[in-house]
Amino acid sequence: PAKSAFTGELPKGLRTISNIIAVSSCKGGVGKSTIAVNLAYTLADMGARVGIFDADVYGPSLPTMVSPENRLLEMNPENRTIIPAEYLGVKLVSFGFAGQGRAIMRGPMVSGVINQLLTTAEWGVLDYLVIDMPPGTGDIQLTLCQVAPLTAAVIVTTPQKLAFIDVAKGVRMFSKLKVPCVAVVENMCYFDADGKRYYPFGKGSGAQVVQQFGIPHLFDLPIQPTLSASGDSGMPEVVADPQGEVAKTFQNLGVCV
Ligand code: ADP
Repeated sequence: PAKSAFTGELPKGLRTISNIIAVSSCKGGVGKSTIAVNLAYTLADMGARVGIFDADVYGPSLPTMVSPENRLLEMNPENRTIIPAEYLGVKLVSFGFAGQGRAIMRGPMVSGVINQLLTTAEWGVLDYLVIDMPPGTGDIQLTLCQVAPLTAAVIVTTPQKLAFIDVAKGVRMFSKLKVPCVAVVENMCYFDADGKRYYPFGKGSGAQVVQQFGIPHLFDLPIQPTLSASGDSGMPEVVADPQGEVAKTFQNLGVCV
């Protein structure tokens, strides 16, 4: 699946993966991990073989958002590969499952840890590997994009942060690497109360983004207490409520990746 302009040879561990989808944001706390996890479980629900790679070494969220029985990554003693954790059939690798980690690491070290986790994991045959990228567009992100041949990127943002500069940074990084940005998700757009719809962060300039950057799909997600609660409970919202509005949005997103 060598779609992007990644450098070097395709690592052995990634050769059995058909599509690698990066979920990315320019800032932390906008819902990137929430979107990555729910997208992955939606794809799994559609019948795909799926893995999630949590590349956010500084603030890994996967261990909070899903609750696999085995919460520690194991090493295969024969070939020294990493055996992913697994929850509801989705393979999971996160620094948060790696046991006692160091909280303070310099950039090159982080890149090393990320590369090792990603490329030595026994992913097996996967239709999709969803990568929860570290926030931002710096060196760590670039290295990651160069190690993994990304098929597509999804950019997550919130309405007030939907400054062109922010989205543009992400689009620019991916376009440099020849990775198509297939969708922008505008998260925490609105909430409904007392029969009215409120836009606490103002209305996003979604249509303009689509026009200016030529990104084919834009999705809105409301502020939804259940989305946050399910994230904390270890069961993704799309698994907890597969018929809900949120699940429908993710099904549409799933179709376009
Ligand atoms: P990021 O990965 O960008 O740092 P997270 O996915 O960890 O962001 O989300 C940050 C917090 O916001 C989490 O507690 C999450 O449950 C919550 N959250 C994300 N999206 C929504 C939403 N649409 N409605 C309510 N809470 C949300």
